[in-house]
Amino acid sequence: SNIVAIVGRPNVGKSTLFNRLLERREAIVDATAGVTRDRHYGKSDWNGVDFTVIDTGGYDVNNDDVFQGEISKQVQLAVDEATSIIFMLNVEEGLTDTDYEIYEMLRRSNKPVYIVVNKVDSAKEELAATEFYQLGIEKYYTLSSATGSGTGDLLDDIVNDFPTTEYKDPFEGLPKITIAGRPNVGKSTLTNALLDTDRNIVTDVAGTTRDSIQTLYNKFGHEFVLVDTAGMRRKSKVSEDLEFYSVMRSIRSIEFSDVVIIMVDATLGWESQDMNIFGLAQKNRKGIVIVVNKWDLIEDKHTNTVRDFEKSIRDKIGQFSDIPILFVSALTKQRILKVVETAMTVYEDRKKKIKTSKLNEVMLPIFEGTPPPANKGKYIKIKYCVQLPTPSPQFVFFCNLPQYVKEPYKRFTENQLRKEFGFTGVPIEVYFRQK
Ligand code: GDP
Repeated sequence: SNIVAIVGRPNVGKSTLFNRLLERREAIVDATAGVTRDRHYGKSDWNGVDFTVIDTGGYDVNNDDVFQGEISKQVQLAVDEATSIIFMLNVEEGLTDTDYEIYEMLRRSNKPVYIVVNKVDSAKEELAATEFYQLGIEKYYTLSSATGSGTGDLLDDIVNDFPTTEYKDPFEGLPKITIAGRPNVGKSTLTNALLDTDRNIVTDVAGTTRDSIQTLYNKFGHEFVLVDTAGMRRKSKVSEDLEFYSVMRSIRSIEFSDVVIIMVDATLGWESQDMNIFGLAQKNRKGIVIVVNKWDLIEDKHTNTVRDFEKSIRDKIGQFSDIPILFVSALTKQRILKVVETAMTVYEDRKKKIKTSKLNEVMLPIFEGTPPPANKGKYIKIKYCVQLPTPSPQFVFFCNLPQYVKEPYKRFTENQLRKEFGFTGVPIEVYFRQK
């Protein structure tokens, strides 16, 4: 999807605009622990066009002197990752040297830049805003923090200017797999280990949706595409350690994939950023495989090491319990084919469709044996079920009193579906509806 980034000096009002753009829609990060505290990303839409908004202000520091550091990183991030950039200025503070520097970086980027002057609440301020023409710009938009007006015109233009050329996927229909994870967990090492085994099977297709690279893998009877955004295998100009940046990339590759391999460093364990990636994959209903890498570095491997490690992860990810967890070494290539095989199983499970007759034949007796608890003397009867024709498994159960079917019973239903039909590593959606 298209990405709109908001950049500007600290305190010009970036997060105010961000929140306004997101008002109508829940921030995608809200349900994801950890990222929640700083709401950096959100989905928005305008005139029926969806897009992602980034507030690059999460690392704001109250000091213009840091321009060469934090702000330039922030601008570089926007330039690298975004489709369109909103450059915010503030009429109260007027034009500063930093604004000139930021604008210079943006101008060189060749991305569409929308200049937005904030806090224009009166005719006097309208006049004052003309000062910003000194940047050498043709046009700016004004926003009023008092009335909230001005976003409509801005969004009309941004959405209008989104690239219209539909990207043609050269690997349409093949499984798309991404390796996500924190910096230095070994993503590139695994990618290379898989591909280096036989160079001539590799096909890189660059220049797809903004720099994402797809590599076709076809070996040992498996054919799939590794999705790698913004050159995971080439080191970026911007510090790889910037959490914001790597999460950003993960979001993009996750949206584009069927299966997400979440890679964790065995020496560090499952950390909050892993939870964020997990949350994103789950929320986007992608297949998930957890790979604990650098297992070669764990010296003290007693009989329970794997079991304990696995338990510590499962305790943190909660309900969704049948996600495969593998222990590998990308460096020594130990068990890396198992990663491929498992990802393919998850892929197949995710697109599996259960015949309606089979589904009812299996599930109705289960419901009869263990019906939902009666509510105030009213019995709930589940009469019929179907799987929806969606990319990931979603089931609808028709019953007389769906409002009385509570969360524990939904989980019971999900677990029964997993047990009976096998949906390894795949998020399942279960709905109860009135017949
Ligand atoms: P990325 O940032 O996730 O792509 O991580 P890299 O693939 O660049 O790996 C970061 C560092 O970890 C490099 O020095 C790798 O050699 C090292 N590394 C990766 N996988 C393993 C592994 O399985 N075992 C060990 N011991 N080191 C690894």
